[in-house]
Amino acid sequence: MRAQPINRIVFITRVFWASPNTILGLIIGGVGMCFGGRARICGRAIEFYDGGTKWFVQRLPHGQFTLALTLGHTILGQTDASLDISRKHETVHILQYERWGPFLLPAYFLSSLYMWLIGRRFYRDNPFEREAYDADGGEHDL
Ligand SMILES: [Zn+2]
Repeated sequence: MRAQPINRIVFITRVFWASPNTILGLIIGGVGMCFGGRARICGRAIEFYDGGTKWFVQRLPHGQFTLALTLGHTILGQTDASLDISRKHETVHILQYERWGPFLLPAYFLSSLYMWLIGRRFYRDNPFEREAYDADGGEHDL
């Protein structure tokens, strides 16, 4: 069955709105592929893993415990298995990028800062993370 034209317009708009972050993910994942990383398309995301991408993820704060992170329509993961485990969670972040576009990362970091200032956990109490963990039932922690 063919997609309704309006659905196609909405989808293209969402992809475009998230594209500044997607471009950042493509650059990081592309560099990662120059150093042995791999990529695959899964659903509406381009997933990067292994090699340089794994090296990058591990150097983030708490990176040793980070399975994956989402930038627009890209997901940067340590391994293919870590991407499989975190897919539900990261898919929620993709939807957040489609909603917030270029404002997601500033809103995310301001939310973390606010949580930290009021004595809450900057990561797990961040509303963007709570929404993602609620979607996957908290199956993976960090
Ligand atoms: Zn998350």
